[in-house]
Amino acid sequence: MTFDDGPQAGNTEQILAILAQNNVKATFFQVGANLAAAPDLGRAVRDAGHAIGNHTWSHQEAPADPADEVHRADATIQSVYGGPTAIFRPPYGNFDNGVVNVALDDNDGVILWSVDPNDWDMPGTDVIVDNVLAGVTPGGIVLMHDGGGDRSQTIAALPRIIAGLRTKGYRFVTVPELLAIGAGEVPPTSTGGTGDVTPPVLTVVNPTNSYTFHSLTATGTVADESSGVASVAATLKRYGDGLYWNGTNWVDAPSPFEAQLSANNWSVPFTLSDGHYSVAVSASDKAGNSSGVIVREFRIDNVAPTTTITSPTAASILSSLPTAMGTAIDINGGIRQVSTALARVSDGFWWNGTAWTSTYAEIKATVSGSNWSLTMPAMSNGNYTLYARGIDFVGNVSPWSTASFTINSATAAKTVVSTPKS
Ligand SMILES: [Zn+2]
Repeated sequence: MTFDDGPQAGNTEQILAILAQNNVKATFFQVGANLAAAPDLGRAVRDAGHAIGNHTWSHQEAPADPADEVHRADATIQSVYGGPTAIFRPPYGNFDNGVVNVALDDNDGVILWSVDPNDWDMPGTDVIVDNVLAGVTPGGIVLMHDGGGDRSQTIAALPRIIAGLRTKGYRFVTVPELLAIGAGEVPPTSTGGTGDVTPPVLTVVNPTNSYTFHSLTATGTVADESSGVASVAATLKRYGDGLYWNGTNWVDAPSPFEAQLSANNWSVPFTLSDGHYSVAVSASDKAGNSSGVIVREFRIDNVAPTTTITSPTAASILSSLPTAMGTAIDINGGIRQVSTALARVSDGFWWNGTAWTSTYAEIKATVSGSNWSLTMPAMSNGNYTLYARGIDFVGNVSPWSTASFTINSATAAKTVVSTPKS
């Protein structure tokens, strides 16, 4: 099940409630502008265990700047969820307007659908239900919508669609899980042994989907009510080249790791360099039933961002400086915050956002993509030093970038009077 064009207040909450009641995990292809307008609702989708995909910034049929449409949505997803997504769906399924090429250049998986019940057109709840149940095939992807307007028919149809598909023997996985099944990383279905046809119940506690870590031990829980848990296996895949870690090398074929089991807990430690990964986890019981697969996407990041000050330039003499600006670039996972400190050379005072104070103070800059900006106070003639540093989502901190400058003055002695705390 996939839901497009949200998040949209009023619709998305109801769909999340139905999915939770039925223990169904789905995939939401979100429009960046809608996510930016409702980040808490977006986080509720992710926190419920659903997968997130990019559906462009503003859902245009013929975007003037396709790269901006894809990358603005990526940046919003990154800032709301603390990490990127690797799946993309073009609005209107359009392959010819440039956005798909941008997504492919970014190594995103481009995902369409196999069943379109036309729920966006509000053909009636019965028609939506019938279209889905008549159109499904094994491995199929159903297109529905939580955004784009009145979704009352979609919401009314959803419980009936879930029940109807379960009656036909279908189970529900996210798009990343479906891709993992297709790649042979996990068994597709339970086989069922005599006397025990109930699959084990598996959870993945770490990694949380789309988060960035310094290092990772995958952990979770597993329980089987009848024959007992036989094994938990985790397969680690690297984005970009699509290779699998076998413990020594990156190889073409999936190489599952057996987890260590302790009571109802399992764990698999991984030794990873910086990069973008997914881990696919599945459990089986002693009768051969499989839990199905849980796929989590994450990044490892131990490299500090690079922070610059572009305005003021070092040693510049200015009549005024309303705004300071610069860049903060992180190769992995993105910038969480840019901190600045502004020192006045004449007395060593710091600007705290309201007043000059003898106490050291930092001020957060406004971050937009790779750029930051800071509204500066009114400064009397004299010498000043501005400091800036970026902090990424795992807490890697760049060195201070500094720019000493003079306001309106003839003599521009450039003295650094104080050093910010590290
Ligand atoms: Zn759409």
